[in-house]
Amino acid sequence: MTDRRFTDKPELYPEGVRALPAGHAALVGNRTLFPSTVVDVDAKFEGRLLVSGENNRKLGRMVAKGAFKGYALYGLSLEERATCPEDCSVRDICYGNGMQMARRHRIVDPEYFYVCLEDEIRELTTGGAGLLVRLHVLGDFPSVDYVAFWSDMLAEHATLAVYGYTHRKTKAWGGDEIGEAIQSLKDAYPDRFRIRWSSDVYREDGAMVIDETPRQPTTADGAIVCPAQTDATACCASCGLCWEPNARHASIAFIKHGPKSDEAAAAAAMRSFEVEEAESAVAIVAAAPKAKVITDAAVQPPSTPSRAVIPLSLPSSVKPAIIAGDVPKARLVRPTDLRVEPVYQRDLSAKSMKLIRKIVSGWDWAKFKPPVCAETKDGLFVIDGQHTAIAAASHPAIREIPVLVVTATHLERRAGAFVAHNRDRVAMSEFQIFHAEVAAGVDDAGNLLALAKSVGATIPRSPPRRGAAKPGDVLAVNQLRKSYRAHGASVVGRVLRIAVMARQAPLDRLVARATVMLLTLDAFKDVAKMPDSAIANGLMAVKDMQGAATAFAEESGQGRDRAAAVLIAAQCRESSKRSAA
Ligand code: SF4
Repeated sequence: MTDRRFTDKPELYPEGVRALPAGHAALVGNRTLFPSTVVDVDAKFEGRLLVSGENNRKLGRMVAKGAFKGYALYGLSLEERATCPEDCSVRDICYGNGMQMARRHRIVDPEYFYVCLEDEIRELTTGGAGLLVRLHVLGDFPSVDYVAFWSDMLAEHATLAVYGYTHRKTKAWGGDEIGEAIQSLKDAYPDRFRIRWSSDVYREDGAMVIDETPRQPTTADGAIVCPAQTDATACCASCGLCWEPNARHASIAFIKHGPKSDEAAAAAAMRSFEVEEAESAVAIVAAAPKAKVITDAAVQPPSTPSRAVIPLSLPSSVKPAIIAGDVPKARLVRPTDLRVEPVYQRDLSAKSMKLIRKIVSGWDWAKFKPPVCAETKDGLFVIDGQHTAIAAASHPAIREIPVLVVTATHLERRAGAFVAHNRDRVAMSEFQIFHAEVAAGVDDAGNLLALAKSVGATIPRSPPRRGAAKPGDVLAVNQLRKSYRAHGASVVGRVLRIAVMARQAPLDRLVARATVMLLTLDAFKDVAKMPDSAIANGLMAVKDMQGAATAFAEESGQGRDRAAAVLIAAQCRESSKRSAA
């Protein structure tokens, strides 16, 4: 009875569900993400509106138990967001964002739509056959007329029943006429019009979306978790909770589902971290002593903001590995007792020499990472930490170093571990290094941050998503640090002020380098003498800077940065001539 063409279920990982970013075309346009799947229902329409639950992994073909046992289960899809209330709280995470294959129906000719739908209902209830319609697989009740249609159908077809959810609300809940009409129909057919109120809060006869996968069949506030999602039952046809009278009092909780991304998962993880703010800790970090050796033992510094390491809930597809090998053991050894296997280890390069020199000249146990070594019959082989070990051996004051000894008797295992140590890591972005160096008291980092703040610019902790940068956001962090070291605070301060005035969102590397050129190269001496506002106006006057700089660079044979500087200078000079005239 509950047979379905597709029985696999989407992976449960609510933390990873990604929302459409603010300003997304589907949100602004109040439409589906997949416009090509929308079918207009007008006189030319020939398809079927109701789709058997057999084609839907969640519904099932026929109700297996309860009040509507033996009823055929069908679903109707309209267009999500287009038919839904604009204050729906899950517009950006609608599970329709993950249904690119579903067919959506647009009611272009309502009369024709109602005729078609009634024909199908009449056909499916022929001979007193039971029909349970899921409203709506996608979309919501678009109008009072539409609700009235269902009222007529329920009146006419005694073996018709409807179940589903709506984000419409009665006026008492801040809703509208449509919500009122739905309430009246619920009152008129309490057992056959089983539409639940979708809500952010627990409510009687409600439905809510939850951000986590509960370990219990109910949530903390008593909502019943949809058993089809947790595999406690196959599908709606074998469940019936949403329409059965005995569950009317409760809310049904749906675990958030839809397209996922690790970015969303990371954001959810960060939200789950509680940062224990110490009193004025942020100020204390900013005031941290500048770039000198800190002797931890001396005085206990004030607390700093920190967050506990907590377990994250991972997608159900992640099966934790069976732990192999012994826990690593720490051991003190002479660095010269260590050996390196060239078959998988890197040969020393120019970069290696630079790093070893840096470690030796700046030896600091707080920056020391114990090499990971494997004990073999031929000695202790360094799997990770060759440069550190060589630096230690090269530092006259270092007699012994702590290493971590792991079990890796076979070469393949050592080589595999070497690759994992060096490949499976999250590289630091220039933004993360910058803010960490601010906390470490590194001069140019702290000064640049203060400079940026003083002119209303922002150096974000991670690169803003494409199109999400705000005016004054700085993308060219490393470029500005380089310019700061080369030209000092006055030039970089002007670059930042000009970028803020020109509402650069963000200040990217091209504009940063071009502006530095305008302020430092002889060829632009006249422009450098102009007020920042004039240069900002010149900058804003260059439309599509990236494209214009590329085209002019090709045309003039100059580099893009200089080409951009020339374009801005031309605008500045032009407008200064006009104002002089
Ligand atoms: S609670 Fe039951 S009837 Fe409701 S959606 Fe889940 S499986 Fe379907």
